[in-house]
Amino acid sequence: MSRLAILPGSVVNGQQATLGVMGGGQLGRMFVHAAQAMGYFTVVLDPDVTSPAGRVSHDHIQTEYLDEQGLAQLMQRCAAITTEFENVPAPALMTLGAARPVAPSAEAVGIAQDRVKEKAHFVRCGVPCAPYAVIETAAQLVAVPDDLLPGILKTARLGYDGKGQVRVTTCAELVAGWDELKNVTCVLEKMLPLKAECSVIVARGWDGVGVNLPVQLNLHREGILAVTEAFEGNMPPALAEQAVAAAQAIAEELHYVGVLCVEFFVLQEGSPAAQALGNLIVNEMAPRPHNSGHYSLDACDLSQFDLQVRTLAGLPLVQPRQHSPAIMLNLLGDLWRDNQPPPWNQVLALPGAHLHLYGKLKANKGRKMGHLTLTGATVAEVRATALAAAKILGIEAF
Ligand code: ADP
Ligand code: MG
Repeated sequence: MSRLAILPGSVVNGQQATLGVMGGGQLGRMFVHAAQAMGYFTVVLDPDVTSPAGRVSHDHIQTEYLDEQGLAQLMQRCAAITTEFENVPAPALMTLGAARPVAPSAEAVGIAQDRVKEKAHFVRCGVPCAPYAVIETAAQLVAVPDDLLPGILKTARLGYDGKGQVRVTTCAELVAGWDELKNVTCVLEKMLPLKAECSVIVARGWDGVGVNLPVQLNLHREGILAVTEAFEGNMPPALAEQAVAAAQAIAEELHYVGVLCVEFFVLQEGSPAAQALGNLIVNEMAPRPHNSGHYSLDACDLSQFDLQVRTLAGLPLVQPRQHSPAIMLNLLGDLWRDNQPPPWNQVLALPGAHLHLYGKLKANKGRKMGHLTLTGATVAEVRATALAAAKILGIEAF
C-alpha cells in the first residue's frame, strides 16, 4: 500500500496539515503534544468538555463518537485520523476511513477490542496464549473442560484495568461469575503461574516498515499498571527477543498501521504450563500507545507518540534508541490525599525525575492522574531515585 506523506507545515486540501484523534484521554493528549511539536495542527473528538487532550488541542469537537456531524467535521478538518482508545466504535472508524487515511484501521481496532477475535488472531499468528474457552451460552459454560480451572472469566469487550473480570476456582463460581458479568460473551482463561509481565510497543508504517521500543517489564497492582522498568537486563535477552519477534508477527499478520502494544506473561520456569506452552505467553494487545510505553517520552530518542505521529502521517520510521535506563511510576488518584496533590517539590528535587500530569481535576481512587519517569546514567541510580520517589509519594516499594 502506498500513499502520500502528510508533511509537517505543508498545505493539504487547502488547509494547514492537521492530524485528528478520536478520544480525548491522556494518550490523546500526549499524541497532540507530539504532533504539535512537529508543527501539525490537531483536532480531538471527545464528548467531554474537560477531556485531557481536548484542553491542549487546537480544536476540540465535543460530540459523541458516532455523531454524524462530529465525524463530518473531523474528516473535513483533518488530513489523517488516529484513535487513542480501543473502544472507539468501529463504525465511526469505518466512516472516517472511507474519506481519510485512518490508522490503525477499523478492522485492526475491531479485533483488538474483542477478546474472542484477539485470541483467534494470536492463534493464527502461532504465538501461544493461555488455554481458553469462549462462553456465549449456558451450554458452553457447563461444557468447560475441568483443566481450565482455576481460571479468569473475562468479558470479551470493554474490559480494562482488571475490570470486567472474575477469578473462578470451581464450576459453581464459574456460573456465579458469568451471572455477575451479566451473561455477556466472555472468555474463560486458565490461570497461569506468572513470574513476570512484560510488553512491547511496535510501530508499523503504510509501507510495511516496522520498528519497536525495547521490551518493558511491568508490575500491576489491583489490576492496574503500577511500575514499568525499562533498561537492558530487565529480562533475559532471549525472552526479550522472542517477545519482540512475536509482537512484530502479530502486527504484520494484521497488516497493521500505527502503534501497537502487545502484552505478555512470563511463566514460572519448569511449571507444567511453561512445559506445555513455553515460557512466553501473549496476553492481549492494545491498538494504540500504551501506559507501559510512557517512559519512551523521556528515555528514548523517539517516543511512542512520535511513532504514532509518523505512522499516521506516512513519515519515515527509524528504529528508536533508548538513551537512558528508566523506571516509570503511575500516579493514581489514590496519591492525592484530601484532593491535595503530592509534594511535587520533593519529587522534582530528585535527579532525572520527569513529571507528567494529564490535567485531570478530580483525583478519584484508581484514576490515572499522571506518571513519573525516572532516568539516570545507570540502572542502580535509576532504581535508587525511583524508590526514593515512591517513598515520598507513598507508593509501595517494588
Ligand atoms: P486488562 O484488560 O484489565 O488489562 P488483562 O487480561 O491484562 O486485563 O488482565 C489483567 C491482569 O490480570 C494481568 O495483567 C495479569 O496480572 C492478570 N491475569 C490476566 N489473565 C491471567 C491469566 N490467564 N493467568 C494469570 N494471571 C492473569
Ligand atoms: Mg492488560
